[in-house]
Amino acid sequence: MDLNTPLTYVKGIGPARAAMLEAKGLATVEDMLAYVPFRYEDRSNMKTVAQLAPGEMATVIAEVRSAKLSGFKRRNLGMFEARFSDASRAVLVGKWFHGGYLANVLVEGMKVALFGKVEFDGYSGEVQMLHPEFEILSADDEDGEAALHVGRVVPIYEAVAKLTTRVLRTLTHRIFAELPPEEDQLPQFLRHRLKMPDRWTALRDTHFPPPDSDLRLLNAFRSPAQFRLIFEEFFWLECGVALKRSKARLLPGIAFQINDRVRERIKAMLPFKPTDAQKRVIQEIVNDMKEPRPMNRLLQGDVGCGKTIVAAEAAVIAIENGYQVAVLAPTEILAAQHGSYFRQILSKLGYVTALLTGSFSNREKIQLKRLVAEGLAHVVVGTHALLEKDVEFKKLGLAIVDEQHRFGVMQRLGLVQKGVHPDVLVMTATPIPRTLAMTLYGDLDVSVIDQMPPGRKPIVTKHAAADAIEQVYSFVKRQIDEGRQAYVVYPVIEESETQAMKAAQQSYEHLSREVFPDIAVGLMHGRLGGDEKEAAMQRFKEGHTRILVSTTVIEVGVDVPNASVMVVEQAERFGLAQLHQLRGRVGRGAAQSYCILATEKMNDAARERIRTLVESTDGFHISEMDLKLRGPGEFFGTKQSGLPSLRVANILRDSEILEVARREAVDFIAHPPEAEDLRRVVAYIRDHWQRRYGLVTVG
Ligand code: ADP
Ligand code: MG
Repeated sequence: MDLNTPLTYVKGIGPARAAMLEAKGLATVEDMLAYVPFRYEDRSNMKTVAQLAPGEMATVIAEVRSAKLSGFKRRNLGMFEARFSDASRAVLVGKWFHGGYLANVLVEGMKVALFGKVEFDGYSGEVQMLHPEFEILSADDEDGEAALHVGRVVPIYEAVAKLTTRVLRTLTHRIFAELPPEEDQLPQFLRHRLKMPDRWTALRDTHFPPPDSDLRLLNAFRSPAQFRLIFEEFFWLECGVALKRSKARLLPGIAFQINDRVRERIKAMLPFKPTDAQKRVIQEIVNDMKEPRPMNRLLQGDVGCGKTIVAAEAAVIAIENGYQVAVLAPTEILAAQHGSYFRQILSKLGYVTALLTGSFSNREKIQLKRLVAEGLAHVVVGTHALLEKDVEFKKLGLAIVDEQHRFGVMQRLGLVQKGVHPDVLVMTATPIPRTLAMTLYGDLDVSVIDQMPPGRKPIVTKHAAADAIEQVYSFVKRQIDEGRQAYVVYPVIEESETQAMKAAQQSYEHLSREVFPDIAVGLMHGRLGGDEKEAAMQRFKEGHTRILVSTTVIEVGVDVPNASVMVVEQAERFGLAQLHQLRGRVGRGAAQSYCILATEKMNDAARERIRTLVESTDGFHISEMDLKLRGPGEFFGTKQSGLPSLRVANILRDSEILEVARREAVDFIAHPPEAEDLRRVVAYIRDHWQRRYGLVTVG
């Protein structure tokens, strides 16, 4: 047996079990070993039932003395109650609401391990646990390996379909009995310096901790064995990233000239004085652009901090050097907006800006493409339509990718192939921890704008329950009487625009006819054609419409400084990041701005999100809360996000180990003790990790 052995070769795994494991991504012995316990119980020296103290989390082993189901059995509304006891003769009551399903599971005479919070029931005077986790110890032992499950520190696994923690424990244990120790791939000097066990030992001790293990360390994922596995996973990832970076740095790029004329042109273009943060960041960009290698820079900054003008400065440098600039935006509205923004500020300098989105007719597209191919358009702004094969640039020198809070590594690559190693500037509004940014955008250098333009007043955020909607409307009316404008936004539910569109449509009719009959109301949703969207946006921008009722198509990037109120309907349906983005649509001018989060009915998670927003306008804090509330998987979304799929490590919980691994990896790649070490590591990553980490090539 080795790490690549299919799990079907393990005793006890037949086709049915193999299918369940496979559905969870567990196909080989190595996969199974990477499926580590999420918790441990110390069953070596346990308390008796008599010793249980109310208030503590405890594990006991006891026998079912009696069990009964009361209440409405049929609708599974009943309460299942079992009485447990052990040699101490004291009684522990376990209670499960909706516990009908347990009636045939926990039966008299059975021996079980129970884990839960010990409580004192003042009414009955008994000690109880509500919904304890349990593991049946006596039933159906297929193994005679019973000693594995008690009398030691025991690993607890998340069940895989019908495979319980007990079954997984047994199977994993069998693997170790047959798996010979493998060669350790982690450089030896590192293992010595960081005092890490070898890989085989680390895996075994993570699954089956040795007798003297510290339970608290184990449950915090910080035992030496767990540290080693987490470190290792990050180390290979960061080595891959470092290799990719160093490779990117060897490519020939454009060394842009920055002389007095270019500086004059930038000055002539700027509509306002840049903030200190903007100045610092443009200097970082200028330094990159001067170098004869491609720039790969991430420009990060909260919504409204002024990233676009920084991008425009970079564009002027490229154009003055005789190159074209591509600007890639995630939505049509944002592309249209960038298009008009760049056109407005760059036409002063005599530059031509073209807009190319999917909604143009074929004739228009052909004409536009010709402009681009002949180099007559200096700046080309577009959606993914820009990535189509037949879009050819005469001389692409700078690619600007506005990802806002979307991650789209692949698209970035597509654009870069249109030039000969053009400089790349990626803009994102998702404020993520720095190490995380460096990993996600591994091949990018990071610049941060951490300051808002002057004169901004913090947005006031309020929560309004359904019965307060009249007050919200009269508040909106007052703001409009004062000359301001307002957005009213509806959520897109489950990827389908249809419902949100209907809600927006109905609300539009209701608001324009009944609530605000004297006010011009506009409507915007995803089903409108590109022209209609642009026209609706334009009317709002020019102030002809005072209220814009919309679905979340406006979420990203829209810039109307006179808008001072953002009403989010059914705010409980939005995620934190989305709400923060929406709120960022106001507060762009000098007037005090407001965000009103109107909710219908909320659960706890929604309440937490609303509270976070009411209390904070700090995108960094909000993003961290978002990551915490949703977990990394959901936070970053699909595979396309570029987030590597980690198995043992958790980017949130283990961020300080990530820092260590990153430092060691960068150091190792730059100064490997022996050239041979580096060769081995490169080969190992290529064979084992490249695909999983989504590293395109490492060497
Ligand atoms: P984001 O970073 O969200 O893309 P924008 O680039 O859209 O932000 O800028 C937000 C608004 O702030 C725009 O209206 C822009 O013109 C304005 N702005 C940006 N920088 C400054 C500055 N230094 N002084 C005054 N206004 C600025
Ligand atoms: Mg922007």
